[in-house]
Amino acid sequence: MNKNTNLTIRKFDAIIVGAGGAGLRAAIQLSESGLKTAVISKVFPTRSHTVAAQGGVAASLGNSEEDSWQWHMYDTVKGSDWLGDQDAIEFMCRKANEVVVELEHYGMPFDRLDNGKIYQRPFGGHMSNFGEKPVRRACAAADRTGHAMLHAMYQRNVKANTQFFVEWMALDLVRDGEGQVLGVTAMEMETGEVVMFQAKATLFATGGAGRIYYSSTNAFINTGDGLGMAARAGIPLEDMEFWQFHPTGVAGAGVLITEGVRGEGGILRNSAGERFMERYAPNAKDLASRDVVSRAMATEIKEGRGCGPNKDYLLLDLTHLDPKTIMQRLPGIRDISIQFAGSDPIKEPIPVVPTAHYMMGGIPTNYHGQVVLSMDGRHDVVVPGFYAAGECACASVHGANRLGTNSLLDLLVFGKSAGEAMVEDIKAMPTAHRELAQGAFDKTLARLSRLESQKSGANVHEVGLAMRRVMQDHCGVFRFPDMLAQGVARIIEVEQQVRVTEVKDKSQVFNTARLEALELDNLIEVAKATMVSAEARRESRGAQAREDYPGRDDANWLKHTLWYRDGSRLDYKPVQMKPLSVDSIELKTRVY
Ligand SMILES: Cc1cc2nc3c(=O)[nH]c(=O)nc-3n(C[C@H](O)[C@H](O)[C@H](O)COP(=O)(O)OP(=O)(O)OC[C@H]3O[C@@H](n4cnc5c(N)ncnc54)[C@H](O)[C@@H]3O)c2cc1C
Repeated sequence: MNKNTNLTIRKFDAIIVGAGGAGLRAAIQLSESGLKTAVISKVFPTRSHTVAAQGGVAASLGNSEEDSWQWHMYDTVKGSDWLGDQDAIEFMCRKANEVVVELEHYGMPFDRLDNGKIYQRPFGGHMSNFGEKPVRRACAAADRTGHAMLHAMYQRNVKANTQFFVEWMALDLVRDGEGQVLGVTAMEMETGEVVMFQAKATLFATGGAGRIYYSSTNAFINTGDGLGMAARAGIPLEDMEFWQFHPTGVAGAGVLITEGVRGEGGILRNSAGERFMERYAPNAKDLASRDVVSRAMATEIKEGRGCGPNKDYLLLDLTHLDPKTIMQRLPGIRDISIQFAGSDPIKEPIPVVPTAHYMMGGIPTNYHGQVVLSMDGRHDVVVPGFYAAGECACASVHGANRLGTNSLLDLLVFGKSAGEAMVEDIKAMPTAHRELAQGAFDKTLARLSRLESQKSGANVHEVGLAMRRVMQDHCGVFRFPDMLAQGVARIIEVEQQVRVTEVKDKSQVFNTARLEALELDNLIEVAKATMVSAEARRESRGAQAREDYPGRDDANWLKHTLWYRDGSRLDYKPVQMKPLSVDSIELKTRVY
């Protein structure tokens, strides 16, 4: 108990906020090293959003055909439209086989080839021989890869004695006067009790923030909490303008249809039945990079070749595939299509539309998962005691556009490397925890007391809806100068409403209204960072497609954006073009 605040303090060697793929992978590393490790999660670990990952995890195992990490690295740099840091990309692609085989040894039930090796399927942008033709690189457990992955890693953590705090929401990052991170404040969702979780090392693995958009493939829990907490604690957010719109969300529902469907032979068609991707990407066709396919689809719709009464979606056709392939490799997709689109893909195509899906930006880290404030050449200035991994982090391996299956890989590689860095750092620290400063919890207590005391304030749900509409209308697949400028003004108006939201029914069971309000505090930081960063970047690169600046501008914009909450200020830092051991992948025009 802290005498200043009556807050209970729980002490651990390491705290991980988030029990998805990244958090669980890091926790294995820490607990198996004998460190006292706590994992805090809003939901039961195996319900984290990694559970929704369908298509696979990338690794150049070469089980079906020749492959190499150098080809994978080339594809990832090209996919990132050269905004990815080449040291981190080399690190990830070289480590891929190791982390996938480790996962296999944890008990992950991968699909198998007849010879017993892990089954691999093609995915968008993954090519052989430096961009020649699609290659089978995605290791999959049917279309439930993330689900299988979470179960394998959760069980490994139980064996290693990781301590889980389930249905606890972290509220704020706590730093001392020297900037050292000392842990987080968190609320037990059922009782509303607030506790300080103190640690020598704190990792954020809080996942994505897709709920800033109206139409999203993301779960309701993906509210960018890690980014909000980091921004409020003075940490910048990197490259937030880059949001991936997945080409195939079910029209009207947003639920994802994995790219693995196109990997298995599915084809996109317009209202004339034309396989239009042949015009936009003659080589890779339907398996071009996601930003390329989403833009092609948006163009088809804009030019009147969409399907349905409003000509506002396209068709994903699998009817030419053997039904056995669909039943064996894509059973979950068939269920989703029947339930959400009312069509059985064995008999008729699935109506699809580009949908907000993945955040390329995040909390800036190096490839050891350490959070970095700025970069001076190759020397990172790390925030002591603070680490991030998974979708909430920006290492940056995805740059301006992520390749499918590289996210599950990212969370395995950087979850592990962050865990390793934490073990090393903790072992070098004194045994006693640092002193908590006077007023360490003030920020959290002030936010909670505002929610309790606010009278006649704004409605949380309505303000959230307004934010999602602004993001959807002003910062989508294509970006227009006037819409972006208006978007910045409108998101600032919404932000002012967020500051005066009121929890209407304060007696609500399980604090759901309070939690929604606290999540909105985080969402608005992410939304504002996205809009302001997108408005400022005057070029088109990867997922940022500006109508007024249609080309990539390497002379002026080959740099990472850093958004600071304080004054909504922007800064920039160079892209790391130098890999760790091989030659740089030189700038080129990006065609598929
Ligand atoms: C539908 C869908 C399909 C996808 N398919 C693929 C695929 O096939 N291959 C691929 O590579 N990528 C895929 N992706 C992307 C990939 O699944 C995600 O980027 C990745 O799983 C994120 O993992 P994570 O560990 O970072 O976060 P998550 O798995 O989202 O976990 C976040 C964790 O943080 C916790 N949390 C958040 N905020 C708080 C808080 N304030 N307090 C306490 N806990 C908190 C949550 O409870 C959760 O445990 C897909 C994404 C979607 C949406």
